[in-house]
Amino acid sequence: MTTTATPRTVSREIRLASRPVGAPASGNFALVTTEVPAPAEGQILVRNTWMSVDPYMRGRMDDAPSYIPPFALGAALEGSAVGEVIASRDAAVPVGSTVSHFLGWREYAVLDAAAATVVDTGIATPADYLGPLGTTGLTAYAALTRTAPVKEGDVVFVSAAAGAVGSVAGQLARQLGASRVIGSAGGPHKTRKLLDVFGYDAAIDYRQGDLPGQLAQAAPEGIDVYLDAVGGDHLQAAIGAVRQGGRIAMVGAISGYNASVPAPGPDNLFRAAAREATLRGMLVSSHFDLFPEWIGKAASWLADGTLRTEETVTEGIEHAPDAFLGVLTGANTGKMLVRLSR
Ligand code: NAP
Repeated sequence: MTTTATPRTVSREIRLASRPVGAPASGNFALVTTEVPAPAEGQILVRNTWMSVDPYMRGRMDDAPSYIPPFALGAALEGSAVGEVIASRDAAVPVGSTVSHFLGWREYAVLDAAAATVVDTGIATPADYLGPLGTTGLTAYAALTRTAPVKEGDVVFVSAAAGAVGSVAGQLARQLGASRVIGSAGGPHKTRKLLDVFGYDAAIDYRQGDLPGQLAQAAPEGIDVYLDAVGGDHLQAAIGAVRQGGRIAMVGAISGYNASVPAPGPDNLFRAAAREATLRGMLVSSHFDLFPEWIGKAASWLADGTLRTEETVTEGIEHAPDAFLGVLTGANTGKMLVRLSR
C-alpha cells in the first residue's frame, strides 16, 4: 500500500443550506471548513483540482423524487470532479494518480478507490475529463448515435449550442455525416462562437424571438435530428420543423428547471405523429458503456484540432455557487468549471 503522511487535512466544502423555490440564490449554499479523515483501508485521499457544475444539479436541490436522489440539507453537495491522489491505501490507485470521481464541491475528498477512475493525462488535460471526455461529451455522443442517431445528409438542430454538451454536439453531428448543423444560443457573442469556433453552419439567437421563424430560415427544408437541451419553446419549434421520420433526443429542459409551477408543454405534438417522428429521452448514466469508444475518438479529435472546446473557469471553492448559478443563466461558453487548486 502506498501512503503519503497527511496527519490532518483541512478542507472547505459547499453544503446545501436551504432548498430554493424558483431560481436558486447564493443564500441556498454554505461554505464550511471541515477536517477530512485519513483514508481507511481501500480508500484514497484526493486533492481536487477541478469540479464541474451542471444544470441537472438544480433538480437535486429540490426534495422531489427523480432519477437521482436529492441533495441532503446541511450536507456537502456532490458532483463530478478530478484531482490528484495524495494518500492511498489501495495499491491499484497509487499516490500521484489523477482520478475522476463524484465528490466535487469540496477541496479534498476521501473515497473508496473503487469509486474513482484513474484518467490518462497523457492524452488530455485533467479538466478535459469533466468536459469533452467526461459525461458532457458522452451525452452528446450517446444522444447523436443512440437516442437520435444522425444519418448521412441529415439536417441537425442543437439547442444550448454554445454550452458544454452543445459545443461538442454540433461538431460531432458533422463527423457523423450531417449535411447542415444549426445551433441556438443566447446573444450575439455566443452565436458568433457557434459559427467561428464550434463549426455550426447557422446560428440562431433565441433571445431575438420568433424561434420558429428563425429556424425555418436556417433550415428551409426542415430538420431530421434535434438535440433538445432546453424544452419549452425550443422543443415546440423543433417539432414544428421536423421532417418525416425525424428524431428528437430529449436530453434536458433547462428553460423549466427553475419553474415553480409546471411549464406548459408543446401544443403541436400531433405534428410529431404526422411526421412519424421519434421523441426519445436519454440519461447519460445508461450509456457509460460507450465511454472507452467515445474517449478514444474524442481524445484524438482534441489532439488534432478536429474537436474544439472552450471552458469558462471560476476560481476557488468559495465561488462554486456563483459558477452554478451562472450555468443556469448562460454565463458560460463551453464547459463551466471551478478550479479548486493548481
Ligand atoms: P450548458 O449548455 O453548458 O449550460 C446551460 C446553458 O443553457 C446556458 O449556458 C444557457 O446558454 C442555456 N440556457 C439557460 N436557460 C435557457 C433558456 N431559458 N432557454 C434557452 N437556453 C437556456 O450545460 P450542459 O451541461 O451542456 O447541459 C445542457 C443540457 O443538457 C441541460 O439541459 C442539461 O440538464 C442536459 N444534460 C442532460 C444529461 C442527461 O443525461 N440527460 C447529461 C448532461 C446534460 P444560453 O446563454 O445560450 O442561453
